[in-house]
Amino acid sequence: MNHAPTQSGARAATAGRGTRTRELVQSAEHYTARTYSPLDVVVARAQGTTVTDVEGREYLDFLAGYSALNFGHGHPAVLEAARTQLERVTLTSRAVHNDQLGPFARDLCALLGQDMMLPMNTGVEAVESAIKVARKWGYERKGVAPGRAQIVVAAGNFHGRTTTVISFSDDDEAHRNYGPYTPGFVTVPFGDLAALEAAVTEDTVAVLLEPIQGEAGVIVPPPGYLQGVRRCTAERGALLVADEIQSGLGRTGRTLACEHEGVEADLYLLGKALGGGVLPVSAVVGRADVLSVLRPGQHGSTFGGNPLAGAVGRAVVALLATGEPQERARVMGERLHTGLAELAPLGLAEVRGRGLWAGIDIDPRLGTGRECCERLAAHGVLAKDTHGSTIRLSPPLVITEPELERGLAALADVLRAMARR
Ligand SMILES: *Cc1c(COP(=O)(O)O)cnc(C)c1O
Repeated sequence: MNHAPTQSGARAATAGRGTRTRELVQSAEHYTARTYSPLDVVVARAQGTTVTDVEGREYLDFLAGYSALNFGHGHPAVLEAARTQLERVTLTSRAVHNDQLGPFARDLCALLGQDMMLPMNTGVEAVESAIKVARKWGYERKGVAPGRAQIVVAAGNFHGRTTTVISFSDDDEAHRNYGPYTPGFVTVPFGDLAALEAAVTEDTVAVLLEPIQGEAGVIVPPPGYLQGVRRCTAERGALLVADEIQSGLGRTGRTLACEHEGVEADLYLLGKALGGGVLPVSAVVGRADVLSVLRPGQHGSTFGGNPLAGAVGRAVVALLATGEPQERARVMGERLHTGLAELAPLGLAEVRGRGLWAGIDIDPRLGTGRECCERLAAHGVLAKDTHGSTIRLSPPLVITEPELERGLAALADVLRAMARR
């Protein structure tokens, strides 16, 4: 495949590509609300770690759908489960039972050592569900006065896009002009235990955190922080809700990122990779004495717990139950971080992360994260910038060492080219 470096700028990049790409980009930009500014790559097919565009060019996927594709594109076991289930039954609604939800829930709880789960679809629905559960638990079990429940969250959080969830986002673009906002949230700096301890009151029903902040740029909190949060919430009778939608399911080298600190949350939020890259599957997983505040009619979802999601989710859980994806993320993650440390002198201001997951800050003098990603695409590697000069690297966990080396070599070439200008 020829990946001649293109000039910077989306227009220039498109101009350098074929008419087919240009036409498809134009129709997408004309007929869809402009909520994203995608790279000018139009994907037609993908397999494993490789994505092919409409011109037949191949790319190494270093983004993996923001960790929704932890097992790569078209994992055979996931596809097999999906195909089989497509032919049987795909949707029942929860008006009746289906033969996939029970086994999926049982296997997921066994994997995580938890009591029960609440099935939803997208990640933000899991977050919304946990907020409702935490508030209800606070009023009915903790005895918080009506209407007073508070949830402590971290600055720089990303928990999704609904009105309530963006109410406590401090990202101006995500938040501005969507008010009136949902009250009941208190924001403290991420990684600052003293600030968190000061914010937790008798009205606090939960602390909601990403154990590693993904969207913010793969921010790992200081050692001992999560343990401190666990101790504080346990002492004050507040729930610890870990949003592992991006950090969970193998990405960091463990099933859950909380495990690195030996911390057990009261509720875990899962999404993204739980759907095996096939469909949206999310869940709130946790203790029975918490999730049991929900009774029939008090919460629900037409699609949550559907048999197709159950079959796919169960295949994902079976992959994780072998421990292989986690081990691969650990081993390949070490290689990734060693490689990135070697590249630092070429213009990486900072490298963070854990397992097969990294946030890298490009020296702003070299250019923007966006420009770096455009150049990487021209070198046959797909990654995505987040916030200015930060790029998130999260290849599928099935990546091989030679592929990883290839991605790192492309990044080195791009950084050298950016420094030359
Ligand atoms: C992606 C993400 C969400 C939202 O998931 P959606 O499926 O896009 O609604 C929530 N929390 C975290 C940590 C995420 O990374």
